[in-house]
Amino acid sequence: MMERFTGSFTQQEPIPDAGIEAALAVLRHGRLHRYNTAPGELSETALLEEEFASLTGARYCLAVASGGYAMACALRAIGVRAGDRVLSNAFTLAPVPGAIASIGAVPVFVEVAEDLTIDLAHLEQQANASGARVLLLSHMRGHVCDMDRLMALCDRLGVTVVEDCAHTMGATWKGIPSGRHGKVAAYSMQTYKHVNSGEGGFLITDDPQVAARAVLLSGSYMLYARHRAAPPPEAFEGIRLDTPNISGRMDNLRAAILRPQLPLLADRVRRWGLLYRSLEAGLTETPGLHLIPRPAHEVYVGSSFQFLLRDWPAGRIQAVIARCAARGVELKWFGAPDPVAFTSRYDHWRYADPAPLPQTDRVLAGLIDMRVPLTFTPEDCALIARIIRAEVLAVQQSGEEAATAAPLAD
Ligand SMILES: *Cc1c(COP(=O)(O)O)cnc(C)c1O
Repeated sequence: MMERFTGSFTQQEPIPDAGIEAALAVLRHGRLHRYNTAPGELSETALLEEEFASLTGARYCLAVASGGYAMACALRAIGVRAGDRVLSNAFTLAPVPGAIASIGAVPVFVEVAEDLTIDLAHLEQQANASGARVLLLSHMRGHVCDMDRLMALCDRLGVTVVEDCAHTMGATWKGIPSGRHGKVAAYSMQTYKHVNSGEGGFLITDDPQVAARAVLLSGSYMLYARHRAAPPPEAFEGIRLDTPNISGRMDNLRAAILRPQLPLLADRVRRWGLLYRSLEAGLTETPGLHLIPRPAHEVYVGSSFQFLLRDWPAGRIQAVIARCAARGVELKWFGAPDPVAFTSRYDHWRYADPAPLPQTDRVLAGLIDMRVPLTFTPEDCALIARIIRAEVLAVQQSGEEAATAAPLAD
């Protein structure tokens, strides 16, 4: 009998009981706004920031409304202005170029290498050609480039690095937490990331001026002294009247949901690793299917899984996706001609007027992507791998091509 997978690729774990209790307490007292505190009370949001700063080792942390807001706020806080060019990965998701565009800056896309990290040679070329002095580096799907080489290159070029850690919260590179290489880092707490408040974002930095500007930008109503993971009031003196209020604060309800999840992060990373390695073991040495190598000095978060069907004709890739979907396995394809739900390509961001990137086109044309929620077990992942492997082999043997675009599930 043909095996089928019946789990849901979009079902995350529930909020831990401690988070539900804390959320109810906030609802009962009604002080949801981060600056609405009773005398002597520390807000859930201020405590959350302090705890995330301590988790990453950053001096300062600001909790905001979304990962996209955190990235845009970081760019503004380091002085990016309308019309400036900002380097970023061609292989990333729409909120990244969107954050650049939201402040009137212009994304300059950099090619992706076959290991799904940014191409450093092309980064240098694009930095020189565009004159851009800021890189919004997206650790897309948790693939982290050689951070030593990247930082050395950016230091030499005078390029400031902002890290998009939406897929690397909890990851480390040579023992350093992801987000601690660049000047600022942004994280997302949207439901499919590594801690879940539906929406939410963090910005971390060690730079007191950047931190102070970010706090003012986020809409602090001059109540910045109520922050705990922010610089002292002196850091705000010179800039408080020169920094616009662009409201995007975190609220106490979401902070309450998040705080009990931070101590669980390390164990989530461990469990995601088991799922990832179960998929990897099941797919290894599948003819025609290329796995992405993971360097030994990297602790990655296996919250998604990618592989390449390198240089396969589009119709054949669509046949694999359709066959897997028929057996309950939801794959996404970065080669699809139109954006499908969360999956889109640099050439779909027409507002940014992207120049063609042949190397990225080739990688994305064969790139398959899969969500891995923590509600899966290692056995589920072994089953998913058996299904993918069987269908990849079947399509190669039959030479089958899907006649029309396969309907892709979100
Ligand atoms: C989710 C995500 C973000 C931030 O997204 P928000 O939905 O704004 O929190 C940034 N970068 C990548 C790669 C993402 O997947």
